[in-house]
Amino acid sequence: MSAPPPANPADPIVDAYGRRFTYLRISVTDHCNLRCVYCMPEEGVPWLPKDEILSYEEIAQVVEAAAACGVHKIRLTGGEPLTRRELPRLVEMLAAVPGIDDLALTTNGVLLAQQAQALRKAGLKRVNVSLDTLHTEKFARIARGGSLQSVLDGIAEAQKVGLGPIKVNCVVLGGLNDDEAARFAELTVAQPVEMRFIEYMPLEEAKGCAMGSGNFSFIGNDATKRRIEARFGALEALEVGAGMRGPAEVWRIPGAAGRLGFISAMSAPFCAKCDRLRLTATGEVRSCLLDGGGLDLRALLRGGGTREQLLDVFRRAAYLKPEVHKAWDQIPSANMSRIGG
Ligand code: SAM
Ligand code: SF4
Repeated sequence: MSAPPPANPADPIVDAYGRRFTYLRISVTDHCNLRCVYCMPEEGVPWLPKDEILSYEEIAQVVEAAAACGVHKIRLTGGEPLTRRELPRLVEMLAAVPGIDDLALTTNGVLLAQQAQALRKAGLKRVNVSLDTLHTEKFARIARGGSLQSVLDGIAEAQKVGLGPIKVNCVVLGGLNDDEAARFAELTVAQPVEMRFIEYMPLEEAKGCAMGSGNFSFIGNDATKRRIEARFGALEALEVGAGMRGPAEVWRIPGAAGRLGFISAMSAPFCAKCDRLRLTATGEVRSCLLDGGGLDLRALLRGGGTREQLLDVFRRAAYLKPEVHKAWDQIPSANMSRIGG
């Protein structure tokens, strides 16, 4: 891939195909209190040494640099972001960065009921909560920790303190939870939530504990949508095709209060519209979750690098972004909990 052309400090971050980056997803920790079958082996992965993880001050410095050239949307993820101490302190620091107008969080929800209020007060705007089943026993099999009730309590508390509209993320796993698609969809009939069905992404690090061992099979979102339509009839298109604003195609059960999002990274990659950069827990900038590799920022941050130097790394990382990921041809070696899904 060629190098980016020279840029002025405030120029937007763009890639070789003209995509412009305005959205940064930040993994604040590799730690997690669950071991979801599609993300981590049951015994977990070795945690990274604490000094390899970016401090809140370092993360804020990166966000200030990115915001200076057009990044305005931030999502905190992990690992499980709520396992990192004093997360509201980071939220407060990022909410104060000029230019950041959207600050959101993706969480497994287990610790959300306790923290929702403090996060909201610190300046968090919205949360996405991951939930793959509505059965207590199946929750234990898929998440291998926590409890379904704690997640449901977290969603309710987040709604109560104003962190909505809540998006609920469900990775559809053939033979494990695909039979629950209609039940999940039904939640949107009365509640103003967006239920999002996510296709499983086969990552090298997840392979041994998941599809490779026959625990479940890949299910494309076409099949999931068909299952929902078999129960509720034809869905109404809200954001589909050229007008899509994010990675999800959005539909609705006619008359429902909420919406249904389908994120089809494997069967219908949305790379052409992808405006995301990622900052890993250890300070690498990546322009694609599934492909392209990353570039280190941490050494610069700890060695007194200037904002221009940080931005130069962002611009070069953006140029590593492939036109379309090739995850079907070559299973990516990426650890979701470190990069931040
Ligand atoms: N721990 C938080 C959570 O689970 O929401 C945030 C990090 S998690 C890596 C972010 C999202 O990635 C979750 O919605 C999770 O379901 C999704 N995810 C993890 N591994 C995945 C995989 N192999 N394929 C598709 N989605 C995956
Ligand atoms: Fe933890 Fe989220 Fe991965 Fe589940 S998907 S193991 S909650 S990081």
